[in-house]
Amino acid sequence: MATISLLGSTGSIGRQSLDVIAACGMSVGAIAANSSVALLEEQARRFRPQLAVAYDEEAAKELRLRLADTSVRVASGMEGLIEAATLPEADTVITSVVGMIGLRPTLAAIGEKKRIALANKETLVCAGELVMRSARESGAEIVPVDSEHSALFQCLECNRDRGEVKRLILTASGGPFFGRSRAELEHVTRADALKHPNWSMGAKITTDSATLMNKGLEFIEAMRLYDMPPEKIAITVHRQSIIHSMVEYCDNAVLAQMGVPDMRLPIEYALTYPRRCPAVAGELNLLHCPPLTFAEPDYDTFRCLPLALRAARQPGNACAILNGANEAAVALFLQDRIRFLEIADLVEYAMDSVPVGPADTLEQILEADAAARDAVAEGFSRRQAL
Ligand code: MG
Repeated sequence: MATISLLGSTGSIGRQSLDVIAACGMSVGAIAANSSVALLEEQARRFRPQLAVAYDEEAAKELRLRLADTSVRVASGMEGLIEAATLPEADTVITSVVGMIGLRPTLAAIGEKKRIALANKETLVCAGELVMRSARESGAEIVPVDSEHSALFQCLECNRDRGEVKRLILTASGGPFFGRSRAELEHVTRADALKHPNWSMGAKITTDSATLMNKGLEFIEAMRLYDMPPEKIAITVHRQSIIHSMVEYCDNAVLAQMGVPDMRLPIEYALTYPRRCPAVAGELNLLHCPPLTFAEPDYDTFRCLPLALRAARQPGNACAILNGANEAAVALFLQDRIRFLEIADLVEYAMDSVPVGPADTLEQILEADAAARDAVAEGFSRRQAL
């Protein structure tokens, strides 16, 4: 029976992962989160991992006090995350922390040949070539948790000869602002952006879904995971989120993976692959499902998407710059310091001002990320000065 190390246990994917782990009777070796001490304590008492990590030092101190009567060890910081990622007893690591912070623990887990249930898309976007190369070298399996990539993974399973794949078709819900014009998006608020039609997710990814940056990041993630050039990946808006993505083969056969929009389904598959276990997620009732529709994304209104596609076509650290800039700009938006449409403006500003260079090492990638964040901060203060 699998033992899981769960990085990002208090977030949306983390909590749903624990549902799946409990339902499938798997055990938890380690849990890790940033600073949600109360929830970490509750999870530690329920799942009895060996190790509980709070990234934040102060939070770790409090967690240590709260868990003093248990045998659960508490650690903190990047060291703690890496310890959780490389726990000898764990065979699978779910990486559901948000953002670049997930990169080093993921590489450490790959080095120990753990199965990576990958739910941290920033890792592959920033360091896709490095991560995939390390996985090939160590023999670690990477099984995606993102619903679209899990769908592609499942549709590619019957055919491992990538030469027969004509294209990957990523589906996009279109987010809460589908069909709106730029003028209508001028004054949308954080609360509007956080209302997603189909999926319940954290604030960062929900904002990315509203700007369509999420689909851009997923496009890059698909390129890296499946070693596909950008011209072989298409994006189609599919509002109902019933088809989670498709693969078109050279004989024009199109395979789609369908299901109710419930992240527990791809999480479960990442943990049980290559087997399937009785469902945690609900059943898809085709007779009650709305008509399935498909449309082109609106690239003019949702400018984050073409910016991501521009980075996808560039070599080296371009995607790390894109991602760092987006993380910084979304943080400003979530603090109500910039308007919705300014997210794309600041990402573009950073992409235009940070030079594209190599991304062969972790240091080069972290440097590009930092430079992009600095560029967003600079672009922001210029706007303030106007
Ligand atoms: Mg997704």
